Amino acid sequence: MTPVEFRRALHRRPELSFQEHETQQFIIDALHSEGIPYRVIAGTGVLAVIEGKRGNHERAVVLRADIDALPIEELNDVEYCSEHKGIMHACGHDMHAAILFGVLQSLNRERNFEGTLFGIFQPGEELNPGGATLVLKEEPFKGYDVAAVIGEHVDARLEVGEIGICPGRFMASNDELRFRVSGRGGHAARRKEIDDTVTAMADMVVRTTSLNSPDAVVSVGRMIAEGATNVIPSEVTAEGTMRTFDSEVRERIYTHIHGNARMVAEKYGVKVDVDINRGYPCVTNNVLLSYEAMIVAADEGIIVRELQPMTTAEDFGYYTERYPSLFYRLGVGGKAGGSHTATFCPDEGAIEVGVRMMQRIALHILNK
Ligand SMILES: [Zn+2]
Ligand SMILES: [Zn+2]
Repeated sequence: MTPVEFRRALHRRPELSFQEHETQQFIIDALHSEGIPYRVIAGTGVLAVIEGKRGNHERAVVLRADIDALPIEELNDVEYCSEHKGIMHACGHDMHAAILFGVLQSLNRERNFEGTLFGIFQPGEELNPGGATLVLKEEPFKGYDVAAVIGEHVDARLEVGEIGICPGRFMASNDELRFRVSGRGGHAARRKEIDDTVTAMADMVVRTTSLNSPDAVVSVGRMIAEGATNVIPSEVTAEGTMRTFDSEVRERIYTHIHGNARMVAEKYGVKVDVDINRGYPCVTNNVLLSYEAMIVAADEGIIVRELQPMTTAEDFGYYTERYPSLFYRLGVGGKAGGSHTATFCPDEGAIEVGVRMMQRIALHILNK
């Protein structure tokens, strides 16, 4: 099976996050037919393991592809269109999985490298808590010296034959904020008998948004106080988002938010509840790996674009917290359209480029 055939088969049978049962079986069958050792991981994922012919097997490189699709009804007129109603590979994870398969297929033939090569077909990238957390909970690399975890994402801003790399801070952490202020509501004219929940929340929101900086975005987009001209409500709620490019900045902002809540509670005599729904951590690229990848790409005739940090999030961040990691973007051409839309259609010419890039950087690190 060629990587393009692999991709089309996955594209026809997309499955939602953490429900990738058919996908998992398909990957298992494909690896089995190539004689590539594997095991099941993270429920609906697959972990392939190839030992090199040479050297010590404790040193490892991990390649990661996500495999889940989205709840979108496909509108593309292609021969391999989705056969699952209302579900579509609209984020290109079928491309990522096909490229990983291509790399494993090729490297398994000769196994002419040192150390161990892992390939993770990871479920549930699109949905909290993220399949990466399930993978890492199983400690699959215990006892190994992981030299690099490498992942990629297709990108329509780049043409086929191009990759995009951003050394260091690359993608944002993403947390949801929810505040609730409660106190004695009542007649707005009898201020001595009420707690001013509305002003307390307004103060809380101002303190929160004052935490914005070049390293962090903190926004409140919803604030509900259902009183009236003469009624102070007993409860006011607010919701927002928080994005950072640095885990220390992220922790510092959490501390500030909780501190502000205590101060507001004391100042206005109200109760302030803070609920932070932690999303994915920042994707931070190892700088050395980033520059090595640039050199390897140039050697392969692949054009490298240096990218600016992105405010979107990726569960690949969990790997970057634990191991030296690299996450790059793979050009699939401007005609691909927007990801997460019903007409997203990446150029399959990118698969061959993706396989070459991932294979070369993996070999470069393993044989170092
Ligand atoms: Zn997506
Ligand atoms: Zn994606």
